[in-house]
Amino acid sequence: MAGTATRKASSKAPSKSLRILISNDDGIQSPGIKALTRVAQLLSDDVWVVAPEVEQSAASHSLTVRRPLRVKKLAPRRFAVDGTPTDCVMLAVLQILEDKAPDLVLSGFNNGSNLAEDIAHSGTVAAASMGAVLGIRAMALSQVTTQGQKTKWTTAETLAPDLIRKLLRMSWAGDSLINVNFPDLVTASVKGVTVTHQGRRRVRETITQSSDPFGRPYYWIGGPRTEKSASKVSDITAINECCVSVTPLRLDLTQEKMLRNMRKALG
Ligand code: MN
Repeated sequence: MAGTATRKASSKAPSKSLRILISNDDGIQSPGIKALTRVAQLLSDDVWVVAPEVEQSAASHSLTVRRPLRVKKLAPRRFAVDGTPTDCVMLAVLQILEDKAPDLVLSGFNNGSNLAEDIAHSGTVAAASMGAVLGIRAMALSQVTTQGQKTKWTTAETLAPDLIRKLLRMSWAGDSLINVNFPDLVTASVKGVTVTHQGRRRVRETITQSSDPFGRPYYWIGGPRTEKSASKVSDITAINECCVSVTPLRLDLTQEKMLRNMRKALG
């Protein structure tokens, strides 16, 4: 029939119509964002990078509202912002790309995991959730690392294209985003992809206390933590079992069960 599309683009060819925005929290010069940009360029000819000028890890959703923001154009479609990951995505979508909103926001690849309660403070996940707030499909992607070892960027870079293509083909719920973690293994040792729940760790182990050279106590947040036992397949479990963890997340944090009880309690 006349008018029926006859030319079907190969699923592997870069798409001209898919506009991809890339950001991160490690800063625009990080090797992770460069690897993710190469991945996006396999998927589209319309890839834009708007990312923090300097590292913003653990910046969460913070927005810069008490000073002006500066945007530096480093190259065509590549901009550095002296702000947070959330600032970057907001400025990119509402200002830099105002002619046409992105179809997909990719945040990463982060240098290190974003598992369990990391999600609450992660700047990587925050950049993706800002995309979701603006009604754009968004994914946060992190490469798990071990302290003192070189980050295996090749693992994320090799496995991401196929995974992103598959995730784009499925239907997404509204107000959602996807959190992906690649295990700290060479690509050949990765056992597969596991769909997971957000896990929980024992957060009490997070603070280390010591003394400075003058004998004054100090506290340091961060360091190794172990997982709380979980009944559901968690992101932490998947990574420990040598798999890529893929977790669907929601923006709406309302606790439905408590909401019902609360309505009764408050009459
Ligand atoms: Mn980071």
